[in-house]
Amino acid sequence: MSHQPTKGHQIINQVLLHPDSQGTDINLWFDGNGGTGLENALSDPAAIIATIQEAGLRGLGGGGFPTYKKWQFVADQEVSPDKYLICNGNEDEPGTFKDAYLLSHSPHQVIEGALIAALASQINKIVFYINPEQISSLNNIRQAVEQWKTCDYYTLIEAQLGCSLSIRVMESSGHYIGGEETAAIESVEGNFPFPRGKPPFPAVSGVYGCPTLINNMETLANVSHILRKGSEWFKALGLGDSTGTKIYCLSGDVLKPGVFELPMGTPLEDLIYIHGGGMLQDKELKAVFTGGVSSSILTPKDIDVPLDFDSVRQRGSSLGTGAMIVVSEGTGIVKRVTEYVNFYAHSSCGQCPPCKTGTFYISQLLNKIDTGQASSADLESLKNLCKFLPGSGRCHLLDGAVIIVDSSLHHFLDEYKSSLNG
Ligand code: SF4
Repeated sequence: MSHQPTKGHQIINQVLLHPDSQGTDINLWFDGNGGTGLENALSDPAAIIATIQEAGLRGLGGGGFPTYKKWQFVADQEVSPDKYLICNGNEDEPGTFKDAYLLSHSPHQVIEGALIAALASQINKIVFYINPEQISSLNNIRQAVEQWKTCDYYTLIEAQLGCSLSIRVMESSGHYIGGEETAAIESVEGNFPFPRGKPPFPAVSGVYGCPTLINNMETLANVSHILRKGSEWFKALGLGDSTGTKIYCLSGDVLKPGVFELPMGTPLEDLIYIHGGGMLQDKELKAVFTGGVSSSILTPKDIDVPLDFDSVRQRGSSLGTGAMIVVSEGTGIVKRVTEYVNFYAHSSCGQCPPCKTGTFYISQLLNKIDTGQASSADLESLKNLCKFLPGSGRCHLLDGAVIIVDSSLHHFLDEYKSSLNG
């Protein structure tokens, strides 16, 4: 099968992974026009949120929620007595490693974005919340934060805020669930990351009851570029309501797995066959697990899907974190799904009985099927669990686990049936 490059391949348009954005020396960042976005923000702080709105920036950690709305919610709250920004780098989903890449290779663009967000929403406490296994991310962001603290910009921001600004770099709990917004808040307060019920929403009552903004690292990394080059430039990079670029974590059965930044709307086919070098050993594509394995599986019939929020949703899946785990023919889907659900069962915090027991039972059933010890009644039980469990957990973990099982049953039921022993 030959694969011709399409528009997505012709126009790579790197921003976050552009050579000018790389490096841990702040002087090199400033030499490459870093700091200009913050200067523009300082010259008119009241216009920042409107610029982000015009640019159409959306949350790139999985939710896709309009960034300006989150910022505006926090900006509208009274300071009582503080406002927090959590820069979320917990990143513990299978196949997702983009934040670690950004933080270890180009921490300054993330910090500048966080400072602009603080200006926009009048935030005086910034917390970089980083997965403790990402040693290079932690070291580099710590060094980079110290460099920013000695800059004139820091004093100018404090003058604009009318109070002192603190930046803390902390290790997250390291649990998958710690990346959920309210779990991150608990963790920042020093507690085990149990997700909280909503409302109240973090923008109203987050860390220690204070208004709290939570943004993913990739989202924040885009901000300084938008403030420097303008919203029209950013919009022109993407496709429709999915503006800008997206970082994809490509892994699995491809020749060149890695981190790729491509314009929103780049076809999946280009990502796999052009940027990823094609399938390992020229095997046929069987499936793609998307979005940190908490979204519906894409199959070869979806190879033409433009990778943007809306197009992927129209195919019944989700862009999620941008993780794309490629699976070739010959790989057992039941085994792969079993591994992922084992991960979810292990990661459940146990607060919600349907999640605690549901992920455990699903995991048990899958392990039974995968090892050839299950009957058709077990398969029916699995299908039934997928029907009544969704929506009964406080956070997305349970739904995420069910979605990949349900989706694999939909696409690969024959494989499940052929694994039964009666
Ligand atoms: Fe914890 Fe699961 Fe409930 Fe989420 S759905 S809060 S992981 S028990």
